Amino acid sequence: MKPSQFSLALLSWYDQSGRTNLPWQQDPTPYQVWVSEIMLQQTQVATVIPYYQRFMIRFPDNATLAAASQDDVLSYWTGLGYYARARNLHRCAQYVAEIHQGQLPAELDALIALPGIGRSTAGAIMALAYHQRFSILDGNVKRVLARFYAIASWPGNKATEQQMWQQADNLLPDQRIAAYIQAQMDLGATLCTRSKPNCDCCPLQSNCQAYARGTPTDFPIAKPKKTIPTRQSHWLILLTDDRRVLLSKRPEKGIWGGLWCFPSFDDTHTLEQHIDNTKTVSKQPAVFRHIFTHFKLDIHPHLYHAKQSAAENITGQAIWYKIEDALTLGLPAPVKKTLLTLSKG
Ligand code: SF4
Repeated sequence: MKPSQFSLALLSWYDQSGRTNLPWQQDPTPYQVWVSEIMLQQTQVATVIPYYQRFMIRFPDNATLAAASQDDVLSYWTGLGYYARARNLHRCAQYVAEIHQGQLPAELDALIALPGIGRSTAGAIMALAYHQRFSILDGNVKRVLARFYAIASWPGNKATEQQMWQQADNLLPDQRIAAYIQAQMDLGATLCTRSKPNCDCCPLQSNCQAYARGTPTDFPIAKPKKTIPTRQSHWLILLTDDRRVLLSKRPEKGIWGGLWCFPSFDDTHTLEQHIDNTKTVSKQPAVFRHIFTHFKLDIHPHLYHAKQSAAENITGQAIWYKIEDALTLGLPAPVKKTLLTLSKG
């Protein structure tokens, strides 16, 4: 199949069956493409839509986002995960305001130089917002290409990724670049899905090598397996009679950077050094597990009643918040869940 036939087949399918009513698709500004692309990294469209809509109401343009506090931005990301995306988005908006007069640059390398923008996101902004001839290589496109060419190695491998960029570039049409890029994403999201590709409806079927072999789901080749370690975290949950809790802000680097959490310790012994006779132990909430990409975290909540919101010797910034005020902060999902449970107790 010639590249022109590939793009023609894809575009004809898109004209019939593509998604045209996603909230970031209506004549999008570069800002809207950028925010949606960042939210869509590692996250399904259906999950992103309400977050995107709320975010756009609060931060409709780069200037509003740049002027906001990090806490405010993170609070609109609570539950979406991968919080470095939100911190980078915020930093990037400030760079754009300072060095690009508030407008995302229409140049691939200048986009890649900004925080949190990789080659694929930059390509998407160039193609979807600026209608320039650039390719993308997000998860959906990688899956389609890995199957179409039956690529025999893991796409995260540097050389393989390089080869896929080459293939993605070669396939670009001369016209209708934005529709073509959207068509690639749509094909991967709606037909060439991870576990149940609908090859019978696929415009690429007649030349798809994985289909010809009868093994589409064998591609892309999986990442070589590593066992994921399990870590322990002991949360000190101090609750006062007037329903305040002590939260501390996580350092920028590391998990949940910049978000508000209960003070946490690696073991019970260290945690108990913060307990004195003014605090009384409450019924202990159950231990629960949170899964990150690189490790599992077993969370042990230790709930104590404190008579008053006195200063505690906690490393970093720690503040007593009324539970309802705490719920408006940037929080990791397990902290939010715990606070909601406390608010009902
Ligand atoms: S034929 Fe099947 S495996 Fe090949 S690109 Fe289409 S949906 Fe994916």
